[in-house]
Amino acid sequence: MKPLLELIDVCYSYHSKGGETPALQNISFQVRQGEFIALVGPSGCGKSTLLSLISGLLVPESGSIQFVRSSGENSDTATDSAMRGKIGYMLQKDHLFEWRTVYRNITLGLEIQHRLDEESRARIDKMLRDYGLERFRSARPSELSGGMRQRAALIRTLALEPELLLLDEPFSALDFQTRLAVCDDVSAILHREKKTAILVTHDLSEAVSMADRIIILTKRPARIRNILELKFEESGLTPLARRSTREFQKYFNLLWEEMRDYEEELPIEEERS
Ligand code: ADP
Ligand code: MG
Repeated sequence: MKPLLELIDVCYSYHSKGGETPALQNISFQVRQGEFIALVGPSGCGKSTLLSLISGLLVPESGSIQFVRSSGENSDTATDSAMRGKIGYMLQKDHLFEWRTVYRNITLGLEIQHRLDEESRARIDKMLRDYGLERFRSARPSELSGGMRQRAALIRTLALEPELLLLDEPFSALDFQTRLAVCDDVSAILHREKKTAILVTHDLSEAVSMADRIIILTKRPARIRNILELKFEESGLTPLARRSTREFQKYFNLLWEEMRDYEEELPIEEERS
């Protein structure tokens, strides 16, 4: 697989009246085209900050974040900003507007960008059919289940035809059962649409069930602690099917060991008192 994105020695600190908060230190990795990366690390370590940097909402203090041209050369600034327009961002909250129907929520981004035409409408209609929301196109978001809302939010993101999807704990508000189903859905959709994705999650089993590689960050300021490449004997397994494999257990345990150090540092005593 060709690289799509390359981060080299990325550092970032927040500055406020109270002083400096270093968030990320010397982060380097590549993301390949079509790859599914999971990003895990202790709470507050800098995961969302890293996604904001990749999306271009924040600018690195030092180091570089570059999209790689298909020829293999690094992109110039022009292609970089063109690529930035090709990034889809999906958050924990689905941000669907109650005053719009499901369909009109999905078309909102395209309307704003003046890109809603016959072709994009056809693409949206197909996704609504494929992903079981056709019957709900005229419904209001509050009439949908949590899983359906996340699917609608995903279609809204995909409608803009992003090359790269940044998913910041998009499933964490869902109950466990729904989360399993939505993970399967989202994974199938992303594979079918051949999208590259970076998923931030605090759920280790979610990371192991969905990712090609898992990037493990240290506590703040985040550095890369380890990168775990997941290999399953059988390829193309759904996230749910992965959960019952031998490899799943192995990777989960590896990840658990890596993360355990951080759990032990939590101020448990304070909570008890
Ligand atoms: P994570 O997503 O891993 O939980 P974040 O990237 O949101 O962590 O935040 C990393 C650190 O930076 C946290 O300690 C947080 O308090 C701090 N931080 C986040 N946003 C800001 C901000 N706008 N100003 C100052 N500090 C911030
Ligand atoms: Mg976060």
